[in-house]
Amino acid sequence: MSALPPCPKCNSEFTYEDGGLYICPECAHEWSAQDTAPAEVTERVYRDATGTVLQNGDTVTVIKDLKLKGSSGVIKVGTKVKNIRLVDGDHDIDCKIDGFGAMSLKSEFVKKV
Ligand SMILES: [Zn+2]
Repeated sequence: MSALPPCPKCNSEFTYEDGGLYICPECAHEWSAQDTAPAEVTERVYRDATGTVLQNGDTVTVIKDLKLKGSSGVIKVGTKVKNIRLVDGDHDIDCKIDGFGAMSLKSEFVKKV
């Protein structure tokens, strides 16, 4: 199985790569591998409770008490969460909280510091 894109000219699937170029053996078309970067990845924008855009590595604080599923623990308002990682999902922040460990939060319940 090859992950090479089909030829943009003739749609041949027999594309091969040579020194950063894609080459089509059927119509001899050559094009740069860079030109075919994945088209239009719609990038999700993550916002905190106040609408501030969040980025990987940001530090946030929790704006409401969050009960932990399957335990009696509660993440208190004001808990600082460092180095968040944004993920695609219902709980869109992966992070580690001191004393709790790795967990997922919702961006709507945090505020960027
Ligand atoms: Zn071709």
